Amino acid sequence: MTRRRSSAASTCSFSSACYTGSSDEDPVSPREKKQRNTTGFTDFCVKNISSQHSFGRREIEIAEKEMPGILALRKRASDDKPLRNAQIVGCTHINAQTAVLIETLVELGATVRWAACNIYSTQNAVAAALAEAGIPIFAWRGETEEDFWWCLDKCAHSDNWNPNMILDDGGDATHLMWKKYPIIFKGIKGIVEESVTGVHRLYQLVKIGKLTVPAINVNDSVTKARFDNYYNSKDSILDSLKRSTDIMFAGKQVVICGYGDVGKGCAQSLRGQGCVVYVTEIDPICALQASMDGFRVVRLNEIIRQVDIVVTATGNKNVITRDHMDRMKSGCIVCNMGHSNSEIDVNSLHSPELSWLRVRSQVDHIIWPDGRTIILLAEGRLVNLSCSTIPSFVVSVTAAAQALALIELYNAPTGRYKSDVYLLPKKMDEYVASLHLPILDAHLTELTDEQAKYLGLNKAGPFKPNYYRY
Ligand code: NAD
Repeated sequence: MTRRRSSAASTCSFSSACYTGSSDEDPVSPREKKQRNTTGFTDFCVKNISSQHSFGRREIEIAEKEMPGILALRKRASDDKPLRNAQIVGCTHINAQTAVLIETLVELGATVRWAACNIYSTQNAVAAALAEAGIPIFAWRGETEEDFWWCLDKCAHSDNWNPNMILDDGGDATHLMWKKYPIIFKGIKGIVEESVTGVHRLYQLVKIGKLTVPAINVNDSVTKARFDNYYNSKDSILDSLKRSTDIMFAGKQVVICGYGDVGKGCAQSLRGQGCVVYVTEIDPICALQASMDGFRVVRLNEIIRQVDIVVTATGNKNVITRDHMDRMKSGCIVCNMGHSNSEIDVNSLHSPELSWLRVRSQVDHIIWPDGRTIILLAEGRLVNLSCSTIPSFVVSVTAAAQALALIELYNAPTGRYKSDVYLLPKKMDEYVASLHLPILDAHLTELTDEQAKYLGLNKAGPFKPNYYRY
């Protein structure tokens, strides 16, 4: 039950949370403060509601402008209220984009209690804005481990609160309720899980026969994996490298470790900036894809002395070892895009002969005795979440999938879902995509009757079988 610090989002000066000013440095724990919003509501615990909520509201409004899909869903379903009487325990990153999701669920009829899934990633101003809107939210940036579980407990258990749905990112809310409140868990109609880790934990429960409710694995829906992993990485790798190092990309030599969705996004965008990009892979299929996309597939040892930037995106461990770092050239930037901070062996850099110099928030110079220096970003944690923000548009896609998964599980007739883990139905995946087309002025072609018959498809979809690889 340890916090996954690896996925911590920004605590840094680049995050939009910075506009909240010096009140963030208030040493008093939010748990010791008595706060109320302007209507007298007190069922929340955030850093500082009074000085921060209006900044947070502006952050949410900015995010909304780039989240057309979830807003379209909000508009289309607000009369029907498909989540009427749903009582949702939520545990996600708390930022402007997830606030748009939370407020959508409320608009669709749900009541919610919400905590952060990560002790570092909360935008305090956004949490304050949600509290000001009357949403029971328990989250602040820099919670202790104990605070984290306290906040989750506040969401799981409260007077007149009978949760019937869980929206989780990482599996901690599910875990706490399953362990501590098995009785409440009996009232749960379904779980929606976003992350690789949380999904893994759900499958483990299925394996030992202990999952007692249906769950939807949003992580592996096409509109999550292909969009969050690929397009988000493509966009935010440049942003995070630029903001943290001011590097000029053109002409630099870069190695991307792993050519999955995340690696593909990083490789494409760095090449677009004029970098010479190398790829390492263990899987011949991905290696062939990289080669045929025009990247040189190499072993790290072949190029480690010459590269200017190293990006890991494998989901694996010890991909960059101390031996590799001993051989990098001075000034080499080393960062990780994978979920866990185990891809780069950062521990091996905590040794007496090396000195660490923090030059900026999330940027460390690691200096060898001969003066050679490597630039380590975010101590090997996800660089895009740590050193930049992520695009709201792509979160809109994931948020729409999460909202639809909740609606589906909440409204499904008895018997449609058993106590198992399901993928989002293909039609809903397609619907999520369709919600995002108008803003991009994309016009779908409609099948003629003759064509639909020829392909054996319903004109309204689904258009592909489940095994189709996009
Ligand atoms: P993926 O499984 O599609 O790709 C990973 C690739 O790495 C695979 O092709 C695999 O063969 C390769 N690989 C494994 N070990 C390797 C090694 N030692 N050397 C070289 N290649 C190796 O996964 P993905 O969707 O690309 O995600 C990669 C990681 O990024 C995961 O940890 C995921 O959770 C994370 N992720 C990050 C973000 C973000 O915003 N930073 C977004 C989504 C996913």
